[in-house]
Amino acid sequence: MQVVGPIFELRALRQQLSGTVGFVPTMGYLHEGHLALVKQARIENSNVIVSIYVNPTQFGLREDFGAYPRELNRDLELLREEGVDIVFVPSDDEMYPPEFSSWVDVEKVTERLEGASRPGHFKGVATVVAKLFNIVQPSRAYFGQKDAQQVVVIKRMVADLNMGIEIVVVPTVRESDGLAMSSRNIYLGPGERQAATVLFKALNLAQQLWWDGEKDAEKIRRQMTSLIQKEPLAQIDYVSIADAETLEELNLIDRPALASLALRIRKIRLIDNMPLE
Ligand code: AMP
Repeated sequence: MQVVGPIFELRALRQQLSGTVGFVPTMGYLHEGHLALVKQARIENSNVIVSIYVNPTQFGLREDFGAYPRELNRDLELLREEGVDIVFVPSDDEMYPPEFSSWVDVEKVTERLEGASRPGHFKGVATVVAKLFNIVQPSRAYFGQKDAQQVVVIKRMVADLNMGIEIVVVPTVRESDGLAMSSRNIYLGPGERQAATVLFKALNLAQQLWWDGEKDAEKIRRQMTSLIQKEPLAQIDYVSIADAETLEELNLIDRPALASLALRIRKIRLIDNMPLE
């Protein structure tokens, strides 16, 4: 496994590869969710490249960029065990030099949900992913269903800008009690960790109601909301039943839909989702 920082070195290595390249962009502090993406990339491609880069431009001013957990040596060990070929660890200086002034702004699908709660977040995400795609030039790129809106945004960008990269979506990996794995889960104290199971409970409730034939999205949102309100540590940012493609809120669930939510468990903001399709 080769670990490279400078962009010119990654490009030189990339040129020597033959066959398909599967690419997994991450911000590191890896867990089984990330590794599920890596495993699938390993099965489906001749070469696997993983990037580890905590992208400053996707964090808001009051968000946790400085405190975001980092543990590079452990990450590299995990990736070596998965048979990854190349790990790309770029520097801020090279990714965003002082004269940097080009941005990728995906409209419409970034307006709601995470985009509404985190202004500028998806501009940072789309820009860094476009840069990484240009540097790595993958055949396929792997993203988690955990960040469902991110998947919608990246697919839109790839189609709109004719990037010709296949986007593969991997199901959300969960802890045994249903909490979606996330690098941010380490911020949760014991009481908060228990309270955080309310996200999965609310999504299960949505799925159950939908399975039972409920088509009225507002009724499902209301029932999810009242379940969450029984958890004293949880504060709702949003609860959504939206069109799975456009992410517009639905009244009637008459097409593939996405149940999603963002909660604050005390100060820790967590997101999760479940497709209703
Ligand atoms: P991050 O390091 O948080 O930027 O995540 C890197 C990639 O891993 C993204 O495509 C995420 O959607 C994906 N990912 C994060 N957590 C999970 C999870 N629990 N299950 C599946 N994929 C995940």
